[in-house]
Amino acid sequence: MRAVVVGAGVTGLAAAVDLVDAGVEVTLVDAAPQAGGKIRTEHVDGFLVEHGPDSFVSYRPAAAALASRFGLGNDIISVTEPRIVYLRRDGEMVAMPEGMGLVLPTRLGPFVRTRLFTWPQKLHAGLDVLLPRYLGPEDMAIGQFLRHRLGPAIIERLADPLIGGIYGTSIEELSLDAVLPMLRAYEDESRSLILASLKAGRKAPKGAGSPFRTLRGGLGDLIDALMAHLRAEAGYVERLGVAAVSLTTDDAGRSHLRLASGEVLVADAVVLATPSPTTAAMVEGERPAAAVALRAIPHASTAVVSLGYRAEAFPTPPVGHGFLDAGTGRTPRSPSSGCTVTSGKWAGRAPDRTVLIRSFLPERSRALHQRPDNEVYAAVERDIAETFGAGESPILRRIARWDGLMPKYTVGHKDRLATIDAALADRPRWQLAGASYRGVGLPDCVTSGQAAAAAVLAQLGG
Ligand SMILES: Cc1cc2nc3c(=O)[nH]c(=O)nc-3n(C[C@H](O)[C@H](O)[C@H](O)COP(=O)(O)OP(=O)(O)OC[C@H]3O[C@@H](n4cnc5c(N)ncnc54)[C@H](O)[C@@H]3O)c2cc1C
Repeated sequence: MRAVVVGAGVTGLAAAVDLVDAGVEVTLVDAAPQAGGKIRTEHVDGFLVEHGPDSFVSYRPAAAALASRFGLGNDIISVTEPRIVYLRRDGEMVAMPEGMGLVLPTRLGPFVRTRLFTWPQKLHAGLDVLLPRYLGPEDMAIGQFLRHRLGPAIIERLADPLIGGIYGTSIEELSLDAVLPMLRAYEDESRSLILASLKAGRKAPKGAGSPFRTLRGGLGDLIDALMAHLRAEAGYVERLGVAAVSLTTDDAGRSHLRLASGEVLVADAVVLATPSPTTAAMVEGERPAAAVALRAIPHASTAVVSLGYRAEAFPTPPVGHGFLDAGTGRTPRSPSSGCTVTSGKWAGRAPDRTVLIRSFLPERSRALHQRPDNEVYAAVERDIAETFGAGESPILRRIARWDGLMPKYTVGHKDRLATIDAALADRPRWQLAGASYRGVGLPDCVTSGQAAAAAVLAQLGG
């Protein structure tokens, strides 16, 4: 039995290792010359630069379990404690109140005491305790829902920076049911989001620490370990640096994947672990309805700028793990949605007496992404000089542009997934997986790749 896995990001690799371990011969195809997709770790001059993701959460165990399975269990490290994240509001840094769940307080005291909100804003949020249920059966933008229940300040100063930051776009368009289904469950069960969150906080284990984990040598080590495992298998073949173009089925039910080089790979099953617009182009010939729904999943652009400084560049070294931009009354707004002080967040990311900072330029700064590197660096350096007082130029500059590659689960996302599933129901040997569908975080991507492999194995076994 032979399967083709298209896309050598973490999703495709998670699928590929499960398939080879089950005795299936695997051909791995990726348009890029190297594996890893958005996971790209660079070691330069003693700095460890993550161009894409820098961590995974421990409460969804699939990523940590995969790393452990491939010998990296002892390399999983936690963030440097204490975890202090700031919200930057009108240039002023306010520490994130302790005990915040993603957008709701799990402890009342820190929320009541925080300077992030004024008293009228806190009282407005408190009205949530009295309001009747708001949701009907239809999906809704997270922004609309939270604004109704908690007031606009929570959106602007907390929810949008936090959730919008993960998706590189605003919560005014993100789907409640696809991104934060927990909020619907809270309203269903408790009516008040705040009461439900406080209840969940009372049940949570005490002193659990931050859920964020990474690998001591960078996330690229996971990709290297998975690739080493695949390359040691006799039935494994790879085509890196060549794009897949289209997928068709022959009368015997075998799949034919055409590559941009003209080569056609014939297989019993195919896992498509590519971003949905690319997947759309591949299935369009045989399943145009699936292609329409796949293209309807929008993808945002983001850019990550990493800057390394001598510690002496700062009057006082930046403290904490970084900040999220929580809006401003001033114009123009900073181009960055936030910065991670990587050298403060993780051990071993920067040489002694240096500071490594990662700045995120979200979708709203798209015009800037497209400018030449030196202009982007100048804009980010200005922002860091204003925020942290950097008085020198950086000694390391790197940029990664992720153009049209950040999936946005906008309102109606789950309906689009149902349309895709229905349109491909008679193609069970084509399995779609990856960040475009049911979770953008690394653990969700791993789970999605593994589920695709399991579905393929069930089909081949049958
Ligand atoms: C800047 C940034 C920061 C992030 N931070 C975090 C974080 O800290 N924690 C976290 O959990 N998640 C984070 N994410 C999200 C996470 O990185 C991604 O969701 C995840 O890596 C996606 O994996 P994937 O395998 O599904 O897709 P990708 O990694 O995008 O892989 C898809 C692969 O398909 C290939 N491909 C595309 N077209 C074709 C074609 N026609 N033929 C063949 N191959 C093709 C691509 O080259 C690519 O290798 C971040 C994402 C970004 C961009």
